[in-house]
Amino acid sequence: MDQPQSPVNLYDLSLEGLSALIKSWGQPSYRAKQVWEWLYQHKVERFEQMTSLPKALRERLETETRLGTLEPVAEQFSIDGQTVKRLFRLTDGQLIESVLMEYDDGRRTACISTQAGCAMGCVFCATGQMGFVRHLTEGEIVQQALYFARHLEKENERLSNIVLMGMGEPLHNYDHTLAAIHKLNDPTGLNIGQRHITLSTVGLVPEMRRFADEGLQVGLAISLHAATDGERSALLPVNKRYPIESVIDAARYYVDKSGRRVTFEWALIRGENDTVEQARKLGLLLRGLLCHVNMIPLNPTGGYDGQPSDPERVSAFQAELAVWGVTSTVRVRRGIDIQAGCGQLKTQVLKSPRVPRKGR
Ligand code: SAH
Ligand code: SF4
Repeated sequence: MDQPQSPVNLYDLSLEGLSALIKSWGQPSYRAKQVWEWLYQHKVERFEQMTSLPKALRERLETETRLGTLEPVAEQFSIDGQTVKRLFRLTDGQLIESVLMEYDDGRRTACISTQAGCAMGCVFCATGQMGFVRHLTEGEIVQQALYFARHLEKENERLSNIVLMGMGEPLHNYDHTLAAIHKLNDPTGLNIGQRHITLSTVGLVPEMRRFADEGLQVGLAISLHAATDGERSALLPVNKRYPIESVIDAARYYVDKSGRRVTFEWALIRGENDTVEQARKLGLLLRGLLCHVNMIPLNPTGGYDGQPSDPERVSAFQAELAVWGVTSTVRVRRGIDIQAGCGQLKTQVLKSPRVPRKGR
């Protein structure tokens, strides 16, 4: 399904792959390095901008390769202007979402997708409600970040952080996600430090362990959302395959291997998983583990009738966690007014194909 399409997308190639291609055309090897620089340092949008290349090579690249495969089709800005969400069309017509969040401390964080749709079927998630379509290629993952990086650089700003928290389950698309992480991190790629990249997983245990064995310093976030198997399985069907205890064990393995604190994500759903009793169970589960809990009041979606928790419930939940020595943060629902929740812009655009206002 995710076969490389023809002509080849240059962003799907590693430097070795690009070198092999250029060499097969009888070009000297330094040409590959030049093309690479045009792709990742200069972030060009058209082949004609690759001015250091001979015309013949540029033309051959133009006929036999593609420079990018994301077509922006819709965008939404939050009222405060600090969050922008983009919907991109891929060459096969699939739509994916990416979000850029700007923070007052200067961080510029891109939230990017790894799949079109998702196979995990979490009941409250707009992407899960769509079902799985296909894995994104390495290039399709990288280009989302590149798109924001290019625009920020035009304003003398820099993309500083990446979160793999958009549409899809990154560890289900393991190889392409890992290759993309390497390219995002590569000093000759996007040059984003591993500690500034976070991968969020629903808890695919074997892949979490494999990821730990990669020896990276990438942040790991785990979507927990419930502290008992019965409750978690009702929200996240994947829990039937990988129950809570196995997820916590894999998280501990990641902490041991990386020395990094892991994050547990918890979407607070009114009356479902926001009780002090749940908080106590969570505290018992996590105490002693090098971790942090990130809570976010649920973003309501069309296919699920749960509602976000009330602020008093959130405070009580947090206080109970603290009793067990578990630290937590309540995330502001960035861009709630633009449906920045994963999968929500696509759902909305498919319902009413209106192109929102243009801008950065
Ligand atoms: N598939 C990965 C990463 C993408 S989802 C994962 O599940 O972790 C990123 C985060 O958004 C996850 O923690 C997910 O549970 C959460 N999420 C999805 N839909 C949500 C919603 N409607 N409200 C709040 N959080 C949601
Ligand atoms: Fe997939 Fe994550 Fe949504 Fe679950 S929450 S359906 S794993 S994208």
